[in-house]
Amino acid sequence: MRPEILFPLFADVDVLKGLGPKLRPLVARLAGERVRDLLFLSPTGLVDRRVRRIDEVQEGEVATLRVRIDGHQPPGRAGHPYRIRVADETGFAFLSWFKVFGDSLQRSHPVGADRIASGKAERFNTELQLVHPDYLVPPERAGEVPLHEAVYPATAGLAARTVRRLALAALERAPELEEWIDPHLLAREGWPAWRTALEALHAPTMGADLLPDAPARRRLAYDELFAHQLAMVQRKAERRAEPAPAVPASEMSQRMQAALPYRLTGAQARTLAEIGGDLALGQRMSRLVQGDVGSGKTVVAMLAMADVAAAGGQSVLMAPTEILARQHYETLQRPLSDAGIGVLLLTGRDKGAERRSKLAALASGEVQVAVGTHALFQDEVAFGGLQLAVIDEQHRFGVSERKRLQAKGDAVHLLALSATPIPRTLELTLHGDLDVSRLDEKPPGRKPVVTTAAPTSRIGEVVGRLRRAIGSGAQAFWICPLVSDSEALDVTAAEGRAEDLTRALGPGVALVHGRMPPGEKDAVMAAFAAGEVSVLVATTVVEVGVNVPAATIMVIEHAERFGLAQLHQLRGRVGRGADASACLLLYDPPLSATGQARLEVLRETEDGFLIAEKDLELRGGGDLLGARQSGLPDYRFADPAAHRDLLPLAAKDARALLARDPKLESARGQAARVLQHLFDWQPDGDWSAAG
Ligand code: ADP
Ligand code: MG
Repeated sequence: MRPEILFPLFADVDVLKGLGPKLRPLVARLAGERVRDLLFLSPTGLVDRRVRRIDEVQEGEVATLRVRIDGHQPPGRAGHPYRIRVADETGFAFLSWFKVFGDSLQRSHPVGADRIASGKAERFNTELQLVHPDYLVPPERAGEVPLHEAVYPATAGLAARTVRRLALAALERAPELEEWIDPHLLAREGWPAWRTALEALHAPTMGADLLPDAPARRRLAYDELFAHQLAMVQRKAERRAEPAPAVPASEMSQRMQAALPYRLTGAQARTLAEIGGDLALGQRMSRLVQGDVGSGKTVVAMLAMADVAAAGGQSVLMAPTEILARQHYETLQRPLSDAGIGVLLLTGRDKGAERRSKLAALASGEVQVAVGTHALFQDEVAFGGLQLAVIDEQHRFGVSERKRLQAKGDAVHLLALSATPIPRTLELTLHGDLDVSRLDEKPPGRKPVVTTAAPTSRIGEVVGRLRRAIGSGAQAFWICPLVSDSEALDVTAAEGRAEDLTRALGPGVALVHGRMPPGEKDAVMAAFAAGEVSVLVATTVVEVGVNVPAATIMVIEHAERFGLAQLHQLRGRVGRGADASACLLLYDPPLSATGQARLEVLRETEDGFLIAEKDLELRGGGDLLGARQSGLPDYRFADPAAHRDLLPLAAKDARALLARDPKLESARGQAARVLQHLFDWQPDGDWSAAG
């Protein structure tokens, strides 16, 4: 239940003076429907309205003048403005309007009167003009002209100054709240109290006040991160409290491990031990394994599934595509069967009697491991005793899909696999409610991928080199970006490229894109995997973990349009076999400084975790698309890049507070509960992509 002290802030925006039915939808779209949403709208600019002399004014800036009215010049012709000539001791200027009713201006601003005028300065011929001044008041009302006026986001029909007025009205309704920040932290950072911080937010007096590191903004960002972390920690604790079948380490998986043609890397062994620790605990596991493409996640999942089978339970392994499910099945089938564990593949292709017999085998518990696609979610799919759900490429699945899978058993353990490395600081934001293992070590023997960048103008040379390479048996990916608003246009571009390459290289070129029917797509991918196709032109559909070890060349067109993480993922498609691999990034010059820095990072390293850190640095919070793709929450104040030092503090403090006061009953605990309501971050919310 929302605390009473917050009621004024959660009232509908239409309680604010001057906000009628016409403005309401505009305000709702810009900020939100509640007073709180206007209160939390941050100014993005600042206008200096301190009085200046006419001879100091530069064209294009906002000027505030103290002048005497010299004379009125009503428009001589239709379409001309009404002008008032004004002067100070350094010169003269004009105030002008295009719509004036009767003699209203003459009456309110008679010749000889002193006025403060403020507005944007323009120059016509040599004359300085303030067109439609923002303020025109007698000196005794100078207080109405703010010396520093915050500028807010605006939208058509809703001027920035109206937004400012509404934000200030919202501020008036903001109560003083009890402090929820740890007093030592507050003192150390020198942050203002909550309400004072909001006052400062809405009353910037210099450019620095608008920056993310202004004390008021940092405090508000911290509040938001702290509220989020509190909810994450609470959620994790709730899940931990759910009993689940205890699965001990088994001899069966020990034997399977010993039978592998390779030794586990240190990171794999550590991750496996972490999973084993969770499974043995008798509480529901929620673990995310993060590891670059090729870091060997599959075998780790397999050994966990073997432990579950040895304990008499069933597991499922979900993949986002049919191709990937098939690949997993082929990888797991032998080692699992050799250990006496039954495994089957279930996809949308299974029909009729075959499908019925597979469903029966799962329902009876006769088969212990099911590998498959979305087909596994279907209601007819039932398990005799499902204990573990492994979700590969977890970001490709929604929360509800995961839940449907987990609902097929009682307290099903969750193991999510992700090939999208996340910077450590963001891990808390994205997955603070999960336990995370990192596979930060690659299996030995991988050859580095040689990465180079070249402007698109050199595409002729590139095709020439490609011809020689495929002549000696190499296989290549050629990636065309999906970027325009119209997927159809992008597909046309990819089709065009496939035609060009076919003309240049012959019939070994094939195309795969997201708009093809799944069956056709699979067939093309299968032909590529079988070596029947030498150059696979693709839109980003190959992003997901397809394994074609023979492919050694990756060409990425318009590399400047991809995010760093995405480029890294794409490059990860090559360098998986014994032969040396190359990645060529084609770009359209001129590259922005950031664009150049990105390509530089890729040339320098193949470490996904390092690349993720660099991505965050380079992005600086400005790349909204990137942020959305990575599933970051929509913070109001916090900027994951600029405030990344605050995240660990907030996480640590959230854990400390909840450890001391799990129900948030102490004075500080109660204040923290008010905070959670302020940001709508209740522990039972479902916001995490993987939670
Ligand atoms: P990903 O993490 O991308 O899912 P995979 O599980 O597909 O990676 O593993 C990639 C390849 O590495 C597979 O061919 C697998 O057999 C191999 N592999 C996994 N672990 C090791 C290891 N410790 N040593 C050598 N090869 C390994
Ligand atoms: Mg994989």
